[in-house]
Amino acid sequence: MPNPSDKNTNIPASGSPKPPVKKQPRNGGANTDNFGAYVKKGAKVSLLCFLGLMCIVLLTGFVVASYILFNAISTVNGELLINLDEYKSNQNQTSFIYAYDEEGSIVELARLHGEENRIWVDLDDISPYMEKAFVALEDTRFRTHHGVDWKRTVGVIVKPSNIGQGGSTITQQLIKNLTNENSVTIVRKYNEILHALNLEKHYSKDQIIEAYLNTLYLGSGCYGVKTASEKYFGKDVSELNAAECAAIASITQKPTKNNPLLYPENNRERMLYCLKQMHKNGALTDAEYKEACEYEIIFTNSEKYVPKDDKPVVEEEQKINSFYVDYVIQCVRDDLMKKDNITKQQAIDQIYYGGLKIYAAVDLKVQEELEEVYVNRINFPDLESDKDGTPVQSAMTIMDYEGRVVAIVGQAGEKTENRGLNRAANSYRQPGSTIKPISCYAPAIDLDLYHYSSQVLDKAIAINGKLWPQNVNGTKGSGKNVSVRYAIQQSHNTVPARIINYDLTPETSFEYLKDHFHLSNLNSKEDVQLAPLATGALYEGATTVEMAAAYATFGNGGLYYYPYSYYKVTNSKGDKIILSNEQPANKRAISEETSDIMCELLQTVDTSYYGKGSNVRDFQIMAKTGTTSNNMDRWFCAGTPYYVAAVWVGFDIPERLHVDVNPCGEIFITVFDRIHKDLPEKEFPKSSGTVKKTYCTASGNIAGPNCGSTSTGWYKIDRVPATCTSCSSAVIEKPGSGGDIVEDIVSGIVEGIIQ
Ligand SMILES: [Zn+2]
Repeated sequence: MPNPSDKNTNIPASGSPKPPVKKQPRNGGANTDNFGAYVKKGAKVSLLCFLGLMCIVLLTGFVVASYILFNAISTVNGELLINLDEYKSNQNQTSFIYAYDEEGSIVELARLHGEENRIWVDLDDISPYMEKAFVALEDTRFRTHHGVDWKRTVGVIVKPSNIGQGGSTITQQLIKNLTNENSVTIVRKYNEILHALNLEKHYSKDQIIEAYLNTLYLGSGCYGVKTASEKYFGKDVSELNAAECAAIASITQKPTKNNPLLYPENNRERMLYCLKQMHKNGALTDAEYKEACEYEIIFTNSEKYVPKDDKPVVEEEQKINSFYVDYVIQCVRDDLMKKDNITKQQAIDQIYYGGLKIYAAVDLKVQEELEEVYVNRINFPDLESDKDGTPVQSAMTIMDYEGRVVAIVGQAGEKTENRGLNRAANSYRQPGSTIKPISCYAPAIDLDLYHYSSQVLDKAIAINGKLWPQNVNGTKGSGKNVSVRYAIQQSHNTVPARIINYDLTPETSFEYLKDHFHLSNLNSKEDVQLAPLATGALYEGATTVEMAAAYATFGNGGLYYYPYSYYKVTNSKGDKIILSNEQPANKRAISEETSDIMCELLQTVDTSYYGKGSNVRDFQIMAKTGTTSNNMDRWFCAGTPYYVAAVWVGFDIPERLHVDVNPCGEIFITVFDRIHKDLPEKEFPKSSGTVKKTYCTASGNIAGPNCGSTSTGWYKIDRVPATCTSCSSAVIEKPGSGGDIVEDIVSGIVEGIIQ
């Protein structure tokens, strides 16, 4: 530091470079006159130089200062620099997933937040003591200054070492929180001041304190007073008294050291100081002050703490959400990506930081029953992988007939992680024979190529010199005609292979799978082949969600409803709908009549082998089993007039399943029996376009007077087959000739052989 006495008082103490000043010589001696003249002349030059420099310095200083001032004024008075409204609607807010209970009341299913646990709350819903406590500690002149407390700021300028320690008003602290600018520099401080002045030009004090109280960090992962209030007191922030508000305000400067759960004594010391300041500046009366000081604060980790029933303090980080919640997140993510043309990460950010309100379409009761069966593996096969002993896995999706996914589970056994593998929605597995109704029978009936009792030869076809496929009993077919109904019931492979190969064509079959039943993961080359289309050996496969949605068309008159898991998604205030399924989208997949006929056909599949199910047995059940080659995947797609479902069982790394009975059928009956308890009577809808007729099992035509073996079937009114003329009176004495013999004999065999 220069000695103050050296200071030239003409030079501003601004740190500007000093002009050179020649020192007076100290020695006397020879040539003093000359020397003196020289000195005088030199001094004149120096003085001129000095004055010139002074002018330049002053001028420059003036220009710079004017420029800075002009900039500062235009910045402060100019356009809004930080938009609080935008921030409020976009930034780092906790999202919620809600559901409706049986009474239609909204219940909270999950809270989603990233690293920041934050819920925005309006100032009106914050205890009035909160502002007073913060003002007392952080910024006593908050309500009177214009963004900057010049008295404190000057103090900081005089002693620059104070920059990091104080002088910031609540407005400035808000700027710091919003911009994440934490560096301790003059420039940052300068910008912060301009931003603060600008903010106060555009917003009221109420808006500023509201934003501040909602954005500041309050320890334990809490951002904002609402989450902090729930974290530390288990209370809503509107319910806090003066002492509790002071305790929260006391955390601000040192979120760890003054954290009441970690260091209650530090927090108390600071809280008492805060109350004292509040009292001093008139925020608390004498009585209020006394009461607050004596109040015994109970934190959530104290022994005296009693959690409220409706608001248990849950460590959100540790809470394992249901598969339904995982699925909703996935659906909202995908829909946001599509709607806003954004990346997966951007969509996830919106979900975790966007303060969204998501109203899930889950049926809580059905989900609960489904989870109970799955977590406890009730009626599950006791199978382990031969290779590493991993237990067999399973997944199930249950829907109504208008696209609502009412319940979903993506794993058997206890769920231990959030957003892990959800086999129900994300594992594409070969559907085996469950594909036949959607790849073969429904299209063939829809296009009037076949009807309920059409006769088809049960015989493998020659492909490249080899007979293919074989039926479940290991034969290449009986070589006799069987009806469509019978082929579905027995899950013959030969019949759909013939229908697709000779009449429907693989291309049309594929088109139905893709465009009518909306399987999403088809291979446009590999899957336009007989093996995937007739026996379900798809290149990739289908999910249980896709299969349930496809089968729903058989119970609702032929409409494909796009599966949905949420009713709507709104912004945090709830005044803007971001996504909606309130009018579920649908598309016609097959005609109403085809849907009726398929529903009847699938009801002929005998499910009694999979369990009694006293409740579900009161209802019609349409069903189809599925098994892939080598028994690696088992499926069951089935529905009652209430719900339709798809169940899958298999190993994650495909491996042969050694089971006699299809385990999916048993799981289906177990779950459906539970969810059909106490449900009122209901039947599948019936269109006016179909009619019930007695048909001749020998010819597949409508039974004539001479037909010996008959059964009943459903037909399109304008497509009723002709009356049978091939049965002679001689046949009447020998009922069940031809194809019927096979049909009658095999019909009597227990379901164990059903594929
Ligand atoms: Zn006949």
